[in-house]
Amino acid sequence: MSHRLQSITVVGASLAGLRAVEALRRAGYDGRLNLIGAESHLPYDRPPLSKAVLQGSREPDTVALTQDEKFAALELDLRLGTRATSLDLQERRVGLEDGESLPFDGLMITTGAAARTLPNTPDLAGIHTLRSLDDCLAIRAELDRQPRVAIVGAGFIGAEVAATCRERGLDVTMIETLPTPLANALPPAIGDMVAAVHRDQGVELRCGVSVAGMRGSQRVEVVDLDDGSEVPADLVVVGIGVVPETSWLEGSGLEIANGVVCDETCAAAEDVVAAGDVARWNNVRFGESMRVEHWTNAVEQGEAAAERLLHGPDGAEPFAPVPYVWSDQYDRKLMSVGRIRPDDEMQVFHGSLEERRFVALFGRDGQLVGAFGANRAPQLMRYRRMLRENAPFDEAVAQASS
Ligand SMILES: Cc1cc2nc3c(=O)[nH]c(=O)nc-3n(C[C@H](O)[C@H](O)[C@H](O)COP(=O)(O)OP(=O)(O)OC[C@H]3O[C@@H](n4cnc5c(N)ncnc54)[C@H](O)[C@@H]3O)c2cc1C
Repeated sequence: MSHRLQSITVVGASLAGLRAVEALRRAGYDGRLNLIGAESHLPYDRPPLSKAVLQGSREPDTVALTQDEKFAALELDLRLGTRATSLDLQERRVGLEDGESLPFDGLMITTGAAARTLPNTPDLAGIHTLRSLDDCLAIRAELDRQPRVAIVGAGFIGAEVAATCRERGLDVTMIETLPTPLANALPPAIGDMVAAVHRDQGVELRCGVSVAGMRGSQRVEVVDLDDGSEVPADLVVVGIGVVPETSWLEGSGLEIANGVVCDETCAAAEDVVAAGDVARWNNVRFGESMRVEHWTNAVEQGEAAAERLLHGPDGAEPFAPVPYVWSDQYDRKLMSVGRIRPDDEMQVFHGSLEERRFVALFGRDGQLVGAFGANRAPQLMRYRRMLRENAPFDEAVAQASS
Protein backbone atom coordinates (compact mmCIF):
# COMPACT_ATOMS: atom_id res chain seq x y z
CA MET A 1 0.00 0.00 0.00
CA SER A 2 1.54 3.35 -1.01
CA HIS A 3 0.99 6.48 1.01
CA ARG A 4 1.13 10.18 0.44
CA LEU A 5 2.71 10.66 3.84
CA GLN A 6 5.98 9.15 5.07
CA SER A 7 5.86 10.53 8.57
CA ILE A 8 2.94 11.45 10.83
CA THR A 9 3.14 13.21 14.19
CA VAL A 10 0.29 13.04 16.69
CA VAL A 11 0.48 15.61 19.50
CA GLY A 12 -1.55 14.62 22.58
CA ALA A 13 -1.27 11.03 23.86
CA SER A 14 -4.69 10.41 25.33
CA LEU A 15 -8.00 9.07 24.05
CA ALA A 16 -8.27 10.82 20.65
CA GLY A 17 -4.53 10.48 19.95
CA LEU A 18 -4.45 6.78 20.80
CA ARG A 19 -7.55 5.94 18.77
CA ALA A 20 -6.01 7.91 15.89
CA VAL A 21 -2.68 6.03 15.85
CA GLU A 22 -4.56 2.73 16.12
CA ALA A 23 -6.74 3.74 13.16
CA LEU A 24 -3.71 4.78 11.10
CA ARG A 25 -2.02 1.41 11.58
CA ARG A 26 -5.31 -0.46 11.00
CA ALA A 27 -5.65 1.38 7.70
CA GLY A 28 -2.23 0.06 6.69
CA TYR A 29 -0.13 3.17 7.29
CA ASP A 30 3.37 1.81 7.87
CA GLY A 31 5.44 5.01 7.86
CA ARG A 32 7.00 6.77 10.83
CA LEU A 33 4.48 7.55 13.58
CA ASN A 34 5.40 9.92 16.42
CA LEU A 35 3.15 10.20 19.46
CA ILE A 36 3.95 13.08 21.81
CA GLY A 37 2.36 13.47 25.22
CA ALA A 38 2.86 16.02 27.98
CA GLU A 39 1.89 13.55 30.71
CA SER A 40 4.30 10.82 31.75
CA HIS A 41 1.58 8.13 31.82
CA LEU A 42 0.66 5.85 28.95
CA PRO A 43 -2.79 6.78 27.58
CA TYR A 44 -5.45 6.25 30.25
CA ASP A 45 -9.17 6.71 30.64
CA ARG A 46 -10.48 9.84 32.34
CA PRO A 47 -14.16 9.03 33.18
CA PRO A 48 -13.26 6.79 36.17
CA LEU A 49 -11.24 9.66 37.68
CA SER A 50 -14.38 11.37 39.01
CA LYS A 51 -16.05 8.04 39.82
CA ALA A 52 -14.50 4.69 40.86
CA VAL A 53 -10.84 5.77 41.10
CA LEU A 54 -11.70 8.82 43.18
CA GLN A 55 -14.04 6.70 45.25
CA GLY A 56 -11.24 4.23 45.93
CA SER A 57 -12.94 1.15 44.47
CA ARG A 58 -10.64 1.10 41.42
CA GLU A 59 -6.90 1.49 41.36
CA PRO A 60 -5.04 3.69 38.87
CA ASP A 61 -3.44 0.69 37.14
CA THR A 62 -6.89 -0.38 35.88
CA VAL A 63 -7.52 2.69 33.74
CA ALA A 64 -5.01 2.09 30.93
CA LEU A 65 -6.59 2.56 27.50
CA THR A 66 -4.47 -0.13 25.85
CA GLN A 67 -2.54 -3.28 26.68
CA ASP A 68 1.26 -3.23 26.56
CA GLU A 69 1.60 -5.76 23.70
CA LYS A 70 -1.03 -4.04 21.57
CA PHE A 71 0.59 -0.69 22.20
CA ALA A 72 4.06 -2.02 21.34
CA ALA A 73 2.69 -3.48 18.09
CA LEU A 74 1.81 0.04 16.94
CA GLU A 75 5.56 0.69 16.57
CA LEU A 76 5.38 4.30 17.68
CA ASP A 77 8.14 6.77 18.28
CA LEU A 78 6.76 7.66 21.67
CA ARG A 79 7.73 10.69 23.70
CA LEU A 80 5.90 10.97 26.98
CA GLY A 81 6.50 13.69 29.56
CA THR A 82 7.27 16.02 26.65
CA ARG A 83 5.17 19.04 25.75
CA ALA A 84 4.96 20.39 22.21
CA THR A 85 5.60 24.13 22.37
CA SER A 86 5.34 25.35 18.78
CA LEU A 87 4.23 24.54 15.26
CA ASP A 88 5.90 25.75 12.05
CA LEU A 89 3.43 25.02 9.26
CA GLN A 90 5.72 26.19 6.43
CA GLU A 91 8.63 23.98 7.48
CA ARG A 92 6.28 21.27 8.78
CA ARG A 93 7.96 20.97 12.15
CA VAL A 94 6.74 20.61 15.73
CA GLY A 95 8.94 22.20 18.40
CA LEU A 96 9.27 20.33 21.70
CA GLU A 97 9.97 21.73 25.15
CA ASP A 98 13.36 19.97 25.25
CA GLY A 99 14.46 22.05 22.26
CA GLU A 100 14.07 19.32 19.66
CA SER A 101 12.23 20.05 16.43
CA LEU A 102 10.40 17.15 14.78
CA PRO A 103 9.71 17.18 11.03
CA PHE A 104 6.41 15.74 9.78
CA ASP A 105 4.47 15.19 6.55
CA GLY A 106 1.15 14.90 8.36
CA LEU A 107 0.10 16.31 11.74
CA MET A 108 -2.71 15.38 14.06
CA ILE A 109 -3.63 17.69 16.94
CA THR A 110 -5.22 15.88 19.91
CA THR A 111 -4.10 18.03 22.84
CA GLY A 112 -7.52 18.00 24.52
CA ALA A 113 -8.41 20.52 27.17
CA ALA A 114 -7.27 21.72 30.59
CA ALA A 115 -9.45 22.44 33.61
CA ARG A 116 -10.51 26.08 33.90
CA THR A 117 -9.44 27.74 37.14
CA LEU A 118 -11.10 30.51 39.17
CA PRO A 119 -9.49 33.92 38.74
CA ASN A 120 -7.39 35.08 41.71
CA THR A 121 -7.19 31.64 43.29
CA PRO A 122 -5.09 32.07 46.45
CA ASP A 123 -1.98 29.95 46.89
CA LEU A 124 -3.41 27.64 49.57
CA ALA A 125 -3.25 23.88 50.01
CA GLY A 126 -6.52 22.00 49.45
CA ILE A 127 -7.70 23.75 46.25
CA HIS A 128 -7.86 21.40 43.25
CA THR A 129 -9.12 20.94 39.72
CA LEU A 130 -9.71 17.48 38.23
CA ARG A 131 -8.48 16.63 34.76
CA SER A 132 -5.59 14.18 35.04
CA LEU A 133 -4.78 10.98 36.91
CA ASP A 134 -2.32 12.95 39.04
CA ASP A 135 -5.10 15.44 39.94
CA CYS A 136 -7.37 12.53 40.88
CA LEU A 137 -4.79 10.88 43.12
CA ALA A 138 -4.02 14.18 44.84
CA ILE A 139 -7.72 14.70 45.62
CA ARG A 140 -8.14 11.07 46.66
CA ALA A 141 -5.30 11.40 49.16
CA GLU A 142 -7.08 14.43 50.64
CA LEU A 143 -10.41 12.56 50.89
CA ASP A 144 -8.77 9.99 53.14
CA ARG A 145 -8.44 12.76 55.77
CA GLN A 146 -12.26 13.18 55.96
CA PRO A 147 -12.38 16.83 54.87
CA ARG A 148 -15.42 19.06 54.58
CA VAL A 149 -15.68 19.38 50.80
CA ALA A 150 -16.77 22.40 48.77
CA ILE A 151 -17.33 21.84 45.07
CA VAL A 152 -17.46 24.82 42.77
CA GLY A 153 -19.62 24.14 39.70
CA ALA A 154 -22.54 21.71 39.33
CA GLY A 155 -21.77 20.53 35.80
CA PHE A 156 -21.04 16.88 35.10
CA ILE A 157 -17.60 16.82 36.76
CA GLY A 158 -18.67 18.76 39.87
CA ALA A 159 -21.83 16.67 40.26
CA GLU A 160 -19.90 13.40 39.89
CA VAL A 161 -17.29 14.47 42.44
CA ALA A 162 -20.12 15.47 44.82
CA ALA A 163 -21.71 12.03 44.39
CA THR A 164 -18.39 10.25 44.97
CA CYS A 165 -17.66 12.30 48.10
CA ARG A 166 -21.13 11.59 49.51
CA GLU A 167 -20.61 7.90 48.82
CA ARG A 168 -17.49 8.25 50.97
CA GLY A 169 -19.64 9.78 53.71
CA LEU A 170 -18.15 13.27 53.51
CA ASP A 171 -19.91 16.61 54.09
CA VAL A 172 -20.37 18.23 50.69
CA THR A 173 -21.47 21.71 49.65
CA MET A 174 -21.86 22.27 45.90
CA ILE A 175 -21.87 25.87 44.68
CA GLU A 176 -23.35 26.81 41.31
CA THR A 177 -23.71 30.28 39.79
CA LEU A 178 -26.65 29.30 37.57
CA PRO A 179 -30.15 28.68 38.99
CA THR A 180 -29.93 24.88 38.59
CA PRO A 181 -27.26 22.26 37.88
CA LEU A 182 -26.53 21.72 34.15
CA ALA A 183 -28.51 24.88 33.28
CA ASN A 184 -26.17 25.72 30.40
CA ALA A 185 -27.14 22.64 28.49
CA LEU A 186 -30.54 21.52 29.74
CA PRO A 187 -33.93 23.02 30.69
CA PRO A 188 -34.63 23.88 34.35
CA ALA A 189 -36.99 20.91 34.85
CA ILE A 190 -34.09 18.50 34.38
CA GLY A 191 -31.69 20.67 36.39
CA ASP A 192 -34.25 20.64 39.22
CA MET A 193 -34.39 16.86 39.12
CA VAL A 194 -30.58 16.62 39.32
CA ALA A 195 -30.65 19.12 42.21
CA ALA A 196 -33.23 17.00 44.04
CA VAL A 197 -31.14 13.84 43.57
CA HIS A 198 -28.15 15.53 45.20
CA ARG A 199 -30.15 17.12 48.02
CA ASP A 200 -31.76 13.77 48.84
CA GLN A 201 -28.27 12.31 49.10
CA GLY A 202 -27.33 14.99 51.64
CA VAL A 203 -25.47 17.49 49.45
CA GLU A 204 -25.86 21.10 50.52
CA LEU A 205 -26.56 22.63 47.11
CA ARG A 206 -26.22 26.40 46.76
CA CYS A 207 -27.44 27.64 43.36
CA GLY A 208 -27.53 31.21 42.06
CA VAL A 209 -24.41 32.27 44.02
CA SER A 210 -20.80 32.67 42.97
CA VAL A 211 -17.49 32.31 44.73
CA ALA A 212 -16.14 35.70 45.82
CA GLY A 213 -12.89 34.35 47.31
CA MET A 214 -11.22 31.69 49.39
CA ARG A 215 -9.38 32.09 52.70
CA GLY A 216 -7.18 30.18 55.08
CA SER A 217 -3.68 30.09 56.47
CA GLN A 218 -1.59 27.69 54.37
CA ARG A 219 -4.64 25.44 53.79
CA VAL A 220 -8.05 26.61 52.58
CA GLU A 221 -10.56 27.03 55.42
CA VAL A 222 -13.42 29.12 54.03
CA VAL A 223 -15.06 29.76 50.66
CA ASP A 224 -16.69 33.22 50.58
CA LEU A 225 -19.80 33.58 48.41
CA ASP A 226 -21.03 36.75 46.72
CA ASP A 227 -24.23 36.84 48.80
CA GLY A 228 -22.05 37.40 51.89
CA SER A 229 -22.30 33.83 53.18
CA GLU A 230 -19.39 31.51 53.97
CA VAL A 231 -18.83 27.81 53.34
CA PRO A 232 -16.31 26.19 55.71
CA ALA A 233 -14.16 23.75 53.74
CA ASP A 234 -10.88 21.84 54.05
CA LEU A 235 -10.95 20.75 50.42
CA VAL A 236 -12.21 22.67 47.38
CA VAL A 237 -12.68 21.02 43.99
CA VAL A 238 -13.24 23.51 41.19
CA GLY A 239 -15.22 22.06 38.26
CA ILE A 240 -16.08 25.06 36.13
CA GLY A 241 -15.38 23.72 32.67
CA VAL A 242 -12.33 23.40 30.47
CA VAL A 243 -10.24 25.42 28.05
CA PRO A 244 -8.92 23.79 24.87
CA GLU A 245 -5.14 23.22 24.91
CA THR A 246 -4.17 25.46 21.99
CA SER A 247 -1.53 27.75 23.54
CA TRP A 248 1.29 25.85 21.79
CA LEU A 249 -0.30 26.71 18.42
CA GLU A 250 -0.23 30.48 18.90
CA GLY A 251 1.42 32.21 15.94
CA SER A 252 1.33 29.01 13.86
CA GLY A 253 -1.17 30.46 11.38
CA LEU A 254 -3.85 27.91 12.30
CA GLU A 255 -7.18 29.52 13.12
CA ILE A 256 -7.87 29.24 16.85
CA ALA A 257 -11.29 30.21 18.19
CA ASN A 258 -12.16 28.31 21.37
CA GLY A 259 -10.46 25.29 19.80
CA VAL A 260 -8.60 24.48 16.60
CA VAL A 261 -10.94 25.49 13.80
CA CYS A 262 -11.43 22.69 11.25
CA ASP A 263 -13.61 22.17 8.20
CA GLU A 264 -16.36 19.57 8.17
CA THR A 265 -13.80 16.80 7.56
CA CYS A 266 -11.65 17.71 10.63
CA ALA A 267 -8.91 19.35 8.51
CA ALA A 268 -7.32 22.50 9.98
CA ALA A 269 -4.79 23.03 7.13
CA GLU A 270 -3.24 20.95 4.37
CA ASP A 271 -2.18 17.62 5.96
CA VAL A 272 -3.14 18.90 9.43
CA VAL A 273 -6.17 17.53 11.27
CA ALA A 274 -7.53 17.85 14.81
CA ALA A 275 -9.77 15.64 16.95
CA GLY A 276 -11.26 15.33 20.42
CA ASP A 277 -11.80 18.04 23.03
CA VAL A 278 -9.43 20.45 21.24
CA ALA A 279 -11.18 20.43 17.85
CA ARG A 280 -13.89 22.80 16.66
CA TRP A 281 -15.45 21.69 13.41
CA ASN A 282 -18.52 22.25 11.34
CA ASN A 283 -20.94 19.40 12.04
CA VAL A 284 -23.09 19.49 8.90
CA ARG A 285 -25.76 17.28 10.47
CA PHE A 286 -26.62 20.11 12.87
CA GLY A 287 -25.42 22.98 10.65
CA GLU A 288 -23.34 24.13 13.60
CA SER A 289 -19.69 24.72 14.42
CA MET A 290 -19.10 22.68 17.56
CA ARG A 291 -16.48 21.47 20.00
CA VAL A 292 -17.50 18.38 21.95
CA GLU A 293 -15.89 17.55 25.29
CA HIS A 294 -17.03 13.96 25.62
CA TRP A 295 -15.45 10.53 25.50
CA THR A 296 -17.32 9.04 22.53
CA ASN A 297 -16.53 12.01 20.33
CA ALA A 298 -12.80 11.73 21.07
CA VAL A 299 -12.91 8.10 19.89
CA GLU A 300 -15.03 8.69 16.79
CA GLN A 301 -13.29 11.89 15.74
CA GLY A 302 -9.81 10.46 16.39
CA GLU A 303 -10.62 7.66 13.95
CA ALA A 304 -12.29 9.94 11.38
CA ALA A 305 -9.47 12.48 11.41
CA ALA A 306 -6.90 9.70 10.98
CA GLU A 307 -8.70 8.52 7.82
CA ARG A 308 -8.90 12.09 6.56
CA LEU A 309 -5.18 12.62 7.12
CA LEU A 310 -4.27 9.41 5.38
CA HIS A 311 -6.43 9.80 2.31
CA GLY A 312 -6.34 13.57 1.81
CA PRO A 313 -9.22 15.83 0.77
CA ASP A 314 -10.41 13.93 -2.32
CA GLY A 315 -13.70 12.26 -1.56
CA ALA A 316 -13.38 12.98 2.18
CA GLU A 317 -16.65 12.46 4.03
CA PRO A 318 -17.86 15.09 6.49
CA PHE A 319 -17.55 14.02 10.15
CA ALA A 320 -21.17 14.43 11.23
CA PRO A 321 -21.86 12.42 14.39
CA VAL A 322 -24.74 12.67 16.84
CA PRO A 323 -22.93 13.68 20.08
CA TYR A 324 -23.41 11.41 23.09
CA VAL A 325 -22.41 11.79 26.73
CA TRP A 326 -23.11 9.85 29.91
CA SER A 327 -22.65 10.75 33.56
CA ASP A 328 -22.88 8.49 36.61
CA GLN A 329 -24.17 10.07 39.80
CA TYR A 330 -25.14 7.76 42.70
CA ASP A 331 -27.43 5.11 41.21
CA ARG A 332 -28.47 7.34 38.31
CA LYS A 333 -27.00 7.00 34.84
CA LEU A 334 -27.72 10.22 32.98
CA MET A 335 -27.29 10.23 29.21
CA SER A 336 -27.71 12.82 26.55
CA VAL A 337 -27.66 12.54 22.75
CA GLY A 338 -27.82 15.24 20.10
CA ARG A 339 -27.66 19.00 20.61
CA ILE A 340 -30.12 20.11 23.27
CA ARG A 341 -30.74 23.78 24.04
CA PRO A 342 -32.52 24.83 27.22
CA ASP A 343 -35.37 26.43 25.20
CA ASP A 344 -36.08 23.46 22.90
CA GLU A 345 -39.55 21.89 23.03
CA MET A 346 -39.47 19.00 25.55
CA GLN A 347 -41.74 15.97 25.98
CA VAL A 348 -41.15 13.24 28.57
CA PHE A 349 -41.69 9.49 27.95
CA HIS A 350 -40.69 6.09 29.34
CA GLY A 351 -41.26 7.19 32.95
CA SER A 352 -41.37 10.62 34.58
CA LEU A 353 -39.19 13.32 36.12
CA GLU A 354 -40.73 12.47 39.52
CA GLU A 355 -39.60 8.84 39.20
CA ARG A 356 -36.18 10.10 38.04
CA ARG A 357 -36.38 7.48 35.32
CA PHE A 358 -37.39 8.78 31.91
CA VAL A 359 -36.41 9.90 28.42
CA ALA A 360 -37.04 13.53 27.46
CA LEU A 361 -37.22 14.22 23.73
CA PHE A 362 -36.27 17.64 22.39
CA GLY A 363 -37.59 19.26 19.19
CA ARG A 364 -36.74 22.42 17.30
CA ASP A 365 -38.30 23.61 14.02
CA GLY A 366 -40.11 20.29 13.68
CA GLN A 367 -36.93 18.20 13.95
CA LEU A 368 -35.82 15.84 16.70
CA VAL A 369 -32.62 17.52 17.97
CA GLY A 370 -31.78 15.56 21.10
CA ALA A 371 -32.82 13.27 23.92
CA PHE A 372 -31.89 13.08 27.59
CA GLY A 373 -32.40 10.02 29.74
CA ALA A 374 -32.11 8.95 33.34
CA ASN A 375 -31.68 5.19 33.93
CA ARG A 376 -33.13 4.49 30.49
CA ALA A 377 -30.10 3.52 28.41
CA PRO A 378 -31.64 1.14 25.84
CA GLN A 379 -34.58 3.47 25.13
CA LEU A 380 -32.28 6.47 24.79
CA MET A 381 -30.09 4.76 22.22
CA ARG A 382 -33.12 4.31 19.96
CA TYR A 383 -33.31 8.08 19.67
CA ARG A 384 -29.61 8.34 18.82
CA ARG A 385 -30.46 6.15 15.83
CA MET A 386 -33.45 8.35 14.95
CA LEU A 387 -31.23 11.44 15.18
CA ARG A 388 -28.81 9.83 12.74
CA GLU A 389 -31.75 9.39 10.37
CA ASN A 390 -32.76 13.08 10.80
CA ALA A 391 -36.20 12.05 12.11
CA PRO A 392 -38.91 14.70 12.51
CA PHE A 393 -39.93 15.45 16.12
CA ASP A 394 -43.49 14.11 15.51
CA GLU A 395 -42.14 10.76 14.41
CA ALA A 396 -39.99 10.41 17.54
CA VAL A 397 -42.96 11.39 19.73
CA ALA A 398 -45.22 8.87 17.94
CA GLN A 399 -42.62 6.14 18.37
CA ALA A 400 -42.20 7.00 22.08
CA SER A 401 -45.97 6.98 22.69
CA SER A 402 -46.60 3.63 20.95
C1 LIG B 1 -12.68 13.48 35.48
C2 LIG B 1 -13.28 13.34 34.11
C3 LIG B 1 -14.43 12.56 33.96
C4 LIG B 1 -15.02 12.42 32.70
N1 LIG B 1 -16.16 11.67 32.59
C5 LIG B 1 -16.75 11.56 31.37
C6 LIG B 1 -17.94 10.80 31.22
O1 LIG B 1 -18.48 10.23 32.20
N2 LIG B 1 -18.51 10.72 29.99
C7 LIG B 1 -17.97 11.34 28.90
O2 LIG B 1 -18.53 11.25 27.80
N3 LIG B 1 -16.83 12.07 29.01
C8 LIG B 1 -16.21 12.19 30.22
N4 LIG B 1 -15.07 12.93 30.34
C9 LIG B 1 -14.52 13.61 29.15
C10 LIG B 1 -13.56 12.73 28.37
O3 LIG B 1 -12.66 12.09 29.22
C11 LIG B 1 -12.82 13.61 27.36
O4 LIG B 1 -13.76 14.05 26.42
C12 LIG B 1 -11.67 12.89 26.67
O5 LIG B 1 -10.65 12.57 27.59
C13 LIG B 1 -11.09 13.76 25.54
O6 LIG B 1 -10.00 13.11 24.98
P1 LIG B 1 -8.87 13.91 24.19
O7 LIG B 1 -7.87 12.88 23.78
O8 LIG B 1 -9.48 14.78 23.17
O9 LIG B 1 -8.23 14.93 25.24
P2 LIG B 1 -7.53 14.68 26.65
O10 LIG B 1 -8.04 13.43 27.27
O11 LIG B 1 -7.65 15.97 27.38
O12 LIG B 1 -6.01 14.43 26.28
C14 LIG B 1 -5.16 15.38 25.74
C15 LIG B 1 -3.74 14.98 26.06
O13 LIG B 1 -2.85 15.88 25.41
C16 LIG B 1 -1.82 16.28 26.31
N5 LIG B 1 -1.32 17.58 25.90
C17 LIG B 1 -1.89 18.80 26.07
N6 LIG B 1 -1.11 19.78 25.56
C18 LIG B 1 -0.02 19.15 25.06
C19 LIG B 1 1.15 19.62 24.39
N7 LIG B 1 1.34 20.92 24.12
N8 LIG B 1 2.09 18.72 24.01
C20 LIG B 1 1.90 17.38 24.26
N9 LIG B 1 0.82 16.89 24.89
C21 LIG B 1 -0.14 17.77 25.27
C22 LIG B 1 -2.52 16.30 27.64
O14 LIG B 1 -1.57 16.21 28.69
C23 LIG B 1 -3.43 15.08 27.55
O15 LIG B 1 -2.77 13.92 27.99
C24 LIG B 1 -14.46 13.08 31.59
C25 LIG B 1 -13.30 13.87 31.76
C26 LIG B 1 -12.73 13.99 33.00
C27 LIG B 1 -11.50 14.85 33.18
